[in-house]
Parts: sequence; C-alpha cells; structure tokens
Amino acid sequence: MDLIDSFGRTIRDLRLSVTDRCNFRCTYCMPEEGMQWLPRSEVLTFEEFERLARIFVERFGVDGLRLTGGEPTVRAHLPVLVRKLAQLRVPADSASPLAGHKPDLSITTNGATFRLLAHEFRDAGLDRVNISLDTLQPEKFLRITRRDDLARVLDGITAAQEAGFSPVKINVVVERGVNDDEIVDLARFGREIGAEVRFIEFMPLDASGHWLNEKVVGQDEIVAKVAAAFPLEPIPSRGAAPADRWRYLDGGGTVGVIPSVTKPFCGDCDRVRLTAEGQFRTCLFANDEFDLRAMMRADADDDQLAAEIQRAVGLKWAGHQINQVTFVRPSRTMSQIGG
Ligand code: SF4
Repeated sequence: MDLIDSFGRTIRDLRLSVTDRCNFRCTYCMPEEGMQWLPRSEVLTFEEFERLARIFVERFGVDGLRLTGGEPTVRAHLPVLVRKLAQLRVPADSASPLAGHKPDLSITTNGATFRLLAHEFRDAGLDRVNISLDTLQPEKFLRITRRDDLARVLDGITAAQEAGFSPVKINVVVERGVNDDEIVDLARFGREIGAEVRFIEFMPLDASGHWLNEKVVGQDEIVAKVAAAFPLEPIPSRGAAPADRWRYLDGGGTVGVIPSVTKPFCGDCDRVRLTAEGQFRTCLFANDEFDLRAMMRADADDDQLAAEIQRAVGLKWAGHQINQVTFVRPSRTMSQIGG
C-alpha cells in the first residue's frame, strides 16, 4: 500500500537523522559552541530506526532511505545500521522501480571521517554519498565550518570514489558574500574529479537566525555563472528529486541546483523525515511533528505506528511558505532535522 498525501503525492523517500551532534560548526547551521545535544537515552536506537524503516519500506513501499544528522558519521558503528537497512525489501507488488529489491541507501556527510568508513559503508550496502563542501579555500573553510579540515574532506571525497561510490555528489550551500565567488571554481572542481556538484540555495534553517532573502543566490544566477564558463544543456524532468540538473555540452559531466527558495518543488515532493529522537516530520519546514518514539516506547504495535504515519502524511501541507507572510520558521534548526 503506497503512502499518498492529500495532494496525491506518493511518499518514497525517508530521511533518517541518526544524531543531532556534529563535528563541524557551520555558520549557516549552528553556533560556535554547538547546540544543547540530546541525551543518548532520547536518541533512537538502531533497533528502533530499523523497526520504523521496516514499516515505511515493507508496508508503504518507501524505496529511498537517506542517513543524515547533525553529522551521521559521528554516530558510532553506523555501518551496523546500514547493514540492517540493507536487509529490508520493497514489496514486490509495489509501484516502486525498486519493487522486490532493497531500498536505495544514501548518506549526506561532511566527509571529514569518510576515509575511515568508506569501504565499511560500501560493504554494508550503502549505495550513494553526498559530501558537503562549500569552499576550496582553506581559510574560508575554517571561517565557514570553524574547523581546519578542508584536506580531510577532500580526502573523504577521494575515499568515497575509491570505494566505488559513483557519482559522488558534492553539496554546496551558496551564501551571497560568503562563497558565491567560488561557484565556477566549485563547478570546475566537480568536472575535474568526476563528481556532480549540487548547489543548494541558502534556506532559513540556521541556528543564528541570520537568514535573509538577500543572502540567497538563486538558481538562475548560479546557472548563468556556470554556463558562462562551461556551456550547459538542461536535463529534462527531475521527477520528485530535489535538484534541477544540467549536462556540460563538452561532456564534462553534470551539475545540479536545489532551488528550495526561488523555485520551490513542493508540488512533486516525495520526502518525509525522522528526527534523531523519533519525531516524524512530513516536511523540512514543518511546524508540527508526530512522536513515533513515544508510541514505540509505550509498546505500540506496528499497526498503530503505521496508522499514525498514514494520519501524519494525510495532514502533509502543500509546501513551505518561505517569503510568504504566512511563513513561520521551524523551531528546529537544520542540524536538528537533517538535510
Ligand atoms: S519544503 Fe517540504 S514540501 Fe517542499 S519539497 Fe521540501 S520537504 Fe517537500
């Protein structure tokens, strides 16, 4: 049975935030001193994540599971969870292209420790990797992340490629006056190493609350800059995927933009999220949540959990309202929701 919301959108993609903790302190995400971390007892166990993922995949045909955080790799023994999730099977009678197979498993990471984990993740069944990299300049990297780890992240990208992840995707959050001067350099970097760069419009989810529309560099501006250096042609129909994509005319690969602010794509949204403490969110910008952890720890059975998930999806709104008078920033920051 598919999970369909009141707008006719079928849910296929579940983002699992496995921790709220992070080893970086990115300025557009959290304050220098970090956040008030969740006590370990409040964070879902691997068994609880597996149980909920099993319901989404095996009852509702969700065929994409993405691990996020905070920084997911700071959660100890994470390949163990990947191995558990790789045992799941999308129902054979599902309309999903992965019917009868394991779900597509991916991770969004800052890459700093990926050299240590790449092969273990690959062996455990991970399929795809997105690594965040907002600059190629060491001093700016230090300014943005408050960590002197550019070399480790670049090595993490190499390690992902060596372990067979392909294409590795590079996530770049573009902020005006911070790294918009490097859009062409980052596109060139992706071409040179054979990775797909995804430019992400800056979203109002930063802990400091400094987001302003003026700081957003929109898709049209990003594409114009890249195309001026490397001519592009659009790749038609994104489907439910968040990124619009282009192909370099000279065969140099592909590039993408996630235009959440200037060209919202909520009409095709197939994503839902689970926070590290088991709160179910039907939208990145949702202002309401559904406490699946409390239900599990109160011995709810799978039917009751499935019913609550269906009820929540039935209430999923049409989309975010950024730049509309009705927009209310979520009470959570990106690190407490997961990308
Ligand atoms: S903002 Fe919400 S509804 Fe829109 S695409 Fe993102 S998760 Fe989906």
